[in-house]
Amino acid sequence: MSRFFSPKYSNLVPYTPGEQPKNMEYVKLNTNESPFPPSNGVYEAVKREAEKLHLYSDPQATVITEKIAKRYGVKPTQVLVTNGSDEVLNFAFMAYGSDKKEMLFPDITYGFYTVFAELNGIKYKEVPLTSDFSVDINDYIGKNTTVVIANPNAPTGKAISLDEIERIVKSNPDNVVVIDEAYVDFGAESAVSLVDKYENLLVTMTFSKSRSMAGGRIGFGIASEAIINDLNTIKYSTNPYNVNRLSQIAGAKAIDDDKYYMDNCKKIIENREYTKKELEKLGFFVLDSRANFIFAKSDKISGKDFYLKLKEKGVLVRHFDKERIKEFTRITIGTKEQMDVFLNKTKEILEV
Ligand code: PMP
Repeated sequence: MSRFFSPKYSNLVPYTPGEQPKNMEYVKLNTNESPFPPSNGVYEAVKREAEKLHLYSDPQATVITEKIAKRYGVKPTQVLVTNGSDEVLNFAFMAYGSDKKEMLFPDITYGFYTVFAELNGIKYKEVPLTSDFSVDINDYIGKNTTVVIANPNAPTGKAISLDEIERIVKSNPDNVVVIDEAYVDFGAESAVSLVDKYENLLVTMTFSKSRSMAGGRIGFGIASEAIINDLNTIKYSTNPYNVNRLSQIAGAKAIDDDKYYMDNCKKIIENREYTKKELEKLGFFVLDSRANFIFAKSDKISGKDFYLKLKEKGVLVRHFDKERIKEFTRITIGTKEQMDVFLNKTKEILEV
């Protein structure tokens, strides 16, 4: 730390992204990316758009915003496109966090929430998941404060129902409820259908997982016009050209090619259920996942050793050093071939 760094950030512990090693070719199952490439249309559109890189991107991201609005059945004024969903989430923390009233989110969830809160000087409380790693909605009903819930949750993969989300949103009418749907396309129910009914609901989504574009950094929020206006105020006060030209066109084209991506999601769901069953045959305990990853543990090996031994064998998964979940590893679901490599290496490690 330099002696110039503002004291307000001196204790900040930044988010640790999943490792992206360059030393060898890994079967990469550690950062919940899609194993499938973007559609051909995306590739062609990006090539054409590259000629215009000398010009700023459209600050309103008009084309992609309109396509997202149509795809999700809302008005373009109810959509904000951002640089990954991390950005819309940060905007939401800035807009609706408080230094007086505790914001609520689960103790085991996306690790960036505590970082956003700390960065922005927001008070928060991490609400323990139940003993089976579920969100108990009673912990969030009528709490009269801002709530953030990832649905499906990460890294557990477990989801709550649309009815449960509605009960939380309805019971907190004077506060915003953020539902982070980064993984919703892999089998959970989206809350977008509720945004016209509840002015306090913000749903965030990403192109990083189901739309094969983690490297393009596109996320978006869908909410009432008033909420989108708030978030735009923050966007235009920080980085008006937040989504670059190539990503805007890539994202717009990806919406045109929706069927390709939704078919890929079906394959990932199939591979997830296959991997879960195979791991269970090997004695693993695997949580019921609605995401593109599974969270699993075995009595035969610690979470950390399993992660390290897989890495030695060229398979990368994610391990979290947090007390409650340290016996688990999170395994991103890839192609059937990748999952077979993972399962074979697992058998070698367990010597079965
Ligand atoms: N929410 C959750 C629950 C996530 O796991 C991630 C991915 N790390 C994000 C949001 C952010 O993803 P992105 O910024 O790539 O859209």
